[in-house]
Amino acid sequence: MDLWQKVDLLGSAAQWDTCQGCGTQMHRHADDLGRWIYPAVRPDGRRVRLLKVLQSSVCQNDCRYCAFRAERDQRRTAFTPDELAHLVDDLYRSGRAEGVFLSSGVCGGTHRAAERMLATVELLRRRYRLNCYIHFKLLPGVQDAVVESALRWADRVSVNLEAPNAQRLQALSGAKDFDGQLLGTLRRAHALREQLGSRASLTTQFVVGPAGETDAELLQCAAALYDELRLARAYYSAFQPVASTPLEGHAPTPLWREHRLYQADFLLHTYGFAASELVFDGQGRLPREADPKLTWARQHPERFPVEVNRASRSELLRIPGIGPATADLIIERRRFGRLRDLRHLGLNSLGEHRAAPYVLLEGRRPAHQLELWSAPGRA
Ligand code: SF4
Repeated sequence: MDLWQKVDLLGSAAQWDTCQGCGTQMHRHADDLGRWIYPAVRPDGRRVRLLKVLQSSVCQNDCRYCAFRAERDQRRTAFTPDELAHLVDDLYRSGRAEGVFLSSGVCGGTHRAAERMLATVELLRRRYRLNCYIHFKLLPGVQDAVVESALRWADRVSVNLEAPNAQRLQALSGAKDFDGQLLGTLRRAHALREQLGSRASLTTQFVVGPAGETDAELLQCAAALYDELRLARAYYSAFQPVASTPLEGHAPTPLWREHRLYQADFLLHTYGFAASELVFDGQGRLPREADPKLTWARQHPERFPVEVNRASRSELLRIPGIGPATADLIIERRRFGRLRDLRHLGLNSLGEHRAAPYVLLEGRRPAHQLELWSAPGRA
């Protein structure tokens, strides 16, 4: 198999891993190789184009949802570290990619598989002296030495928890041990990061749906990780069944559920909400019909309306329609005078519509809202 066939096989293989903030396939480049280059968001908010690829699509494990499970009959291959490092160097220097997201099947044992991945990134940093962005996926249960090297060479390291707890993971994989290999590796990565003074960020990913987990379980797990491990992000991947796997007959997870999970997750890591404040139904599900912040606001009339001219940043962030950038803008604008009109808040029309019922401007309800309220009474 030549290098380009490998790129196609291992690039297409990596598409199944939808974590680390990569965009959907819709945003990929149109040319042949560019099909495997995805936009991703760095911890500093800058967007980068990453080659998303597997070192190897050979795997000894049999995770029930996975396209690379050992029992699945499919064509497989692997890059040597030299091949992959050369490819990334070429893409970087020609301006087609700004980095790599590297994952791998577990081939020849976790340690050997991780060593091949490490050899690739070490070549990139040492031989090619490439200052590209590197996201390194830690394989379950890797040794501390591997974690340390990954923290040294990569900008971001991640461990996919896949499920929010050990019991749920059993429905997805008989090979992975939640407390030891997954959460344990994430914890060791955090501890070593602190010890080494590494600036690498830490992320994880959940497969949403097939384990029967609730939204509440997922978000409580993510909230604990944000608190305990200073996790940069948790990613939620709506399950899509793969042919010839034990879960091929399982219904796909609707994308609206993934969307609601991301909205609620933003409340946790950006808006200062505690997991206990999120509103779920009796089965631990986020409501489908309204976003989680609006749902919370509707349940807390005692917290509204908020006087925009006096509210703290955290109070502003509780108002539907107002995000961090708008909250900062409002605080900046208050230095120059009183805000008396919704248009002074810097919101778009949807944001104004959302915020209107929940704010006071100089002690008055916005005119926008008064019009809405008075509409039914008009002749
Ligand atoms: S260990 Fe990873 S690549 Fe292997 S079957 Fe499980 S999810 Fe797939």
